[in-house]
Amino acid sequence: MTHAQKRIAITIDDVPNTGKYVKESFEPVLLNRIDSLKVPVTIFVNEKKVYENEYLSENFDLLKQWVFSPNVQVANHSFSHFRCSETDEILFCDDIRKGGHLIGELTQKVNKKVSYFRFPYNDLGRDEKQQQAIGQCLAAQNLLTAPFTVESSDWMFDFLYRHYISEGQNGEAAKVAEAYLVLTRNSLRFFDSLAYTVYGRQIPHIYLCHDNLLNTLFLNDLLKIFSEEGFSVVPMDEVMTDAVYRQPIYYHGKWGFSWLYRWMSNESERKAAMKLEPDTQYYYRQYQRLRESK
Ligand SMILES: [Zn+2]
Repeated sequence: MTHAQKRIAITIDDVPNTGKYVKESFEPVLLNRIDSLKVPVTIFVNEKKVYENEYLSENFDLLKQWVFSPNVQVANHSFSHFRCSETDEILFCDDIRKGGHLIGELTQKVNKKVSYFRFPYNDLGRDEKQQQAIGQCLAAQNLLTAPFTVESSDWMFDFLYRHYISEGQNGEAAKVAEAYLVLTRNSLRFFDSLAYTVYGRQIPHIYLCHDNLLNTLFLNDLLKIFSEEGFSVVPMDEVMTDAVYRQPIYYHGKWGFSWLYRWMSNESERKAAMKLEPDTQYYYRQYQRLRESK
């Protein structure tokens, strides 16, 4: 019996990183690498980032380049990146609508459609009641909640990496990058084997990461890991056709963890599975220490 190729979609949150764009002398380095490798990605846009510094036309142009790339599917990540559980439903719903203005106009020009919304922090709301209210708001805008199955805390490693580079500690920075790549491989193995245990078959995955320096510099290494682990990178739409992604979710709290856990109806089973996740405590403590000292 031959095994079907394993599949994974790459999703990139918090696009466009306009602060990074200034440092790159207005070259969209991550996008250029994605385009030169022709790897399909889905981006989740916070339009507020376009207005975050004085380079409005450059930032708008950056967003346009992302939207116009043939390798990029475009999705909404809200305008302001509010935490849903801490935000009034009406305000949150307005912020989703507001986050669709520029991408709505730009995607139309290239015949793309915005179909997905990803909750900031993957915080779907404080309880079932709020989650239902926001769900209606999304349905009214023809948006589906974007899930993910695999992540590896790239935001934390990116913070540490940039810290050590800015301090001239290149050796420490290299260690952090290596730890990120090792964790990505281990997380991929962990979530894939969890899915196999639950469903008794291979499921296609969705990898969550961010528009940051770490993924820009190590995109090739990430892709190599996916390939070495037997995964081919495919569009998110293809992954979303799998039946696992049509399941209800049973977790109605605010924490931003993998959909593999949310699809588990048994809470103690969910908690037991989470305890086996690859450990990030060593770097998380470093991250907290540095955050506090800033
Ligand atoms: Zn985000």
